Amino acid sequence: MSAADWYAHKSLGEGVFWIQERFFDAANRCNIWLIRGSHQDVIIDTGLGLRSLPEYIEMNRLLGDDPQRKNPLLAIATHAHFDHTGGLHQFENVAIHSSEAEAMANGDNYEMVTLLTDKQITESPSPGWKAKDYKVKAVQPTHILQEGDVINLGDRQLSVLHMPGHSRGSICLLDREKKLLFSGDVMYDGPVIDFLPYSHVSDYISTCERLVGLCESEQVDQVLPGHYAAFGAKQLTHLANTYVASAQSCAGKFSTFAKGSLSNMMLRLYYPR
Ligand SMILES: [Zn+2]
Ligand SMILES: [Zn+2]
Repeated sequence: MSAADWYAHKSLGEGVFWIQERFFDAANRCNIWLIRGSHQDVIIDTGLGLRSLPEYIEMNRLLGDDPQRKNPLLAIATHAHFDHTGGLHQFENVAIHSSEAEAMANGDNYEMVTLLTDKQITESPSPGWKAKDYKVKAVQPTHILQEGDVINLGDRQLSVLHMPGHSRGSICLLDREKKLLFSGDVMYDGPVIDFLPYSHVSDYISTCERLVGLCESEQVDQVLPGHYAAFGAKQLTHLANTYVASAQSCAGKFSTFAKGSLSNMMLRLYYPR
């Protein structure tokens, strides 16, 4: 299986591309976003890294075909989970929030919650490939991100918002001018995951309140999430409010506790510490 076949992409216009892994058939297949700037390009999340993403970008000329005008490319992880960081090692410049930089540098697959099955990979990336051997490679981040940092692409800027809850180093990236929010796993149109190691419910509630505030102050028009389809500010408000209400209910608390115990047990089996 070549890199050319492994991924698919679509242009959303204005220098934004959506890339997806075609043969990863699971809810945690992530959206990969490529954004072209006048002076720097960024890729937000990198998928599992089973085939070369830089090669795919290059062969499809997603960053233009003028080798003289090549911008630096920064790979940003919205957080350390394996479905987003598996491909980070393929890039020279790598950014992640400070609270997950160590996990990335140490290749801590427990914190990355690496759990993959053969069934989820519908075409073998290479002969004899087995899910049980899959691990995210350790990567020393070249850029450590903090709340309030601004990533300058030249003609567009991405502000870093630290939004813990799903994981401790989860970030959203906000293009304030275009009111475009790259939300990672902080919020997408699907079940909220708040029960993994380093998930934190009360942080998640504060994060959701902040998201609602961003919508109320009309700072967000469109959300390009870490999973599933894009949506608008109204849906973001609805999803965030729904989470806050359910997290505070008894049933919500019990469900988080039960799912948390189970996933922690499984992860500890795979990654004893
Ligand atoms: Zn994810
Ligand atoms: Zn995640």
